[in-house]
Amino acid sequence: MGYNKLLERQIKKHLTTSGVLDENLMSFIQSIDDSYNAFERDKRLSEHAFQVSEKDYLDIYDRLKSEINIRNQSILKLMEAIRNMEPDSDMSILPGVDNLLDVVNYLDAQIKKRKAAEASLKIAKEEAEKATQAKSEFLSIMSHEIRTPLSVVIGLGNILFRQNPRPDQVNNLQVLRTSADNLLALINDILDFSKIDASKLELEHAVFDIHKTVDEIYQAISIKAQEKDNLMSIYIDTKIPTWVYGDSHRITQVLNNLLSNAVKFTQKGKVRLSLQLENISDSRCTILFSVSDTGIGIEKDKIQYIFTPFSQSSSSITREFGGTGLGLAITSELLQLMDSQIKLETEIGRGSIFYFSLDLVYISAIEKIPINTAPQEQDLNKAKILLVEDTPFNILFTTQLLEGWNTVVDVAENGAIAVDKMKKSRYDIVIMDLHMPVMDGYTSTKKIREFNQETPIMALTASATSDIREKIFAAGMQDYVTKPFDSDQLFSQMKRAMKK
Ligand code: ADP
Repeated sequence: MGYNKLLERQIKKHLTTSGVLDENLMSFIQSIDDSYNAFERDKRLSEHAFQVSEKDYLDIYDRLKSEINIRNQSILKLMEAIRNMEPDSDMSILPGVDNLLDVVNYLDAQIKKRKAAEASLKIAKEEAEKATQAKSEFLSIMSHEIRTPLSVVIGLGNILFRQNPRPDQVNNLQVLRTSADNLLALINDILDFSKIDASKLELEHAVFDIHKTVDEIYQAISIKAQEKDNLMSIYIDTKIPTWVYGDSHRITQVLNNLLSNAVKFTQKGKVRLSLQLENISDSRCTILFSVSDTGIGIEKDKIQYIFTPFSQSSSSITREFGGTGLGLAITSELLQLMDSQIKLETEIGRGSIFYFSLDLVYISAIEKIPINTAPQEQDLNKAKILLVEDTPFNILFTTQLLEGWNTVVDVAENGAIAVDKMKKSRYDIVIMDLHMPVMDGYTSTKKIREFNQETPIMALTASATSDIREKIFAAGMQDYVTKPFDSDQLFSQMKRAMKK
């Protein structure tokens, strides 16, 4: 029976006279009954709930414990991995296992640090690339600036040679020519330095007269030696064969570097170049080259630096003697390419000896050396040439050179005048300088090509950049000669261009 029926009966019995309950009392009894029933239901439910958690409590606890264990293991592994990745990192800055958030923050900080390091590396790389680019641009401009006047020296020297010089002038002219050639070689070698640096330099082997080569180097250096009141001497072992096979240009460069230094760092002293035969077989000979001086000498602890690029033994050297610090670096690299090694003995205040051995193939005196000594007839058959050139010196010697080949030369001082002259007259060939005021050679050629496609145009340039070929072809020129040019080469290129 419900609790409300019991309550109803008791109320009827004790609280009413008629035994009838009014409506209000009935609803009161009903709400008490509802509350009681709700309480009973909650009591049953809570009793059941308590029984479930008690049953599973141990199980949940175990699971939680193992989860925590796994988590700690993972953190330990993570920390181990961090340590392996960064063995040098300070362990104490690694957080403990009990705080996963610390580990995460630590990792986050490390990642940020790495990203920052990567970014600065990228910037450094870009800056290094920019610097390399600036360096090669600088070298190219510098070589251009030096080559232009040098081409005048070489060119005029050659012209003077052809003009039947007096016997007493011949020697001076020879020295002038060798000095200018050596200077040009040096400029080219500075340009080549980047090649040496990138191991891209290759030797060129040919047969040459080593006695004559060394004598010419000596002659050219002697003038410098006299300027500094130095006594210069040379010794060439007469047993050294005349004709050897090797890169005469590079050997010359090495000796020039060593002799220039010897003269530079010696005042009122002695400089000596010596070649001794160390060994000789049927086909090979080993020659010991040495360059000695009685100059300032080099401190022992500086020796290791002077062979590295752009290094000098002290900063006062730069102030007092100038120089780039490139010479010995190039020298030792070149000798390594020739399977040799530069050696040095030196004493402060007493002087230095730089020496090295070269193993060279030689050609015995009985073997015939085919040398073409017969002068070639150079005649361009009264060809009409338009020389487009702004530098008066270049105009002077190029005109003389061209006229010597039986030609008629007309000069235009810039690209705009050249366009004008091409409209008015007919020429067999145009020799076009590239860098000129008012209008440069490229623009001038493009304008000429608008109305004249036939006349060959040949560029004359002091530029040594590798893209010069594409640039001159794109503008409409057929060929180019680099200043200072070899006159025989210019002649044959002009002849070929006009044949076409
Ligand atoms: P540069 O002569 O242009 O400075 P080098 O590479 O030829 O560069 O020489 C590097 C340095 O070695 C010179 O600056 C100088 O300090 C030292 N050096 C080279 N040759 C001699 C020498 N014969 N006597 C004294 N010091 C020398």
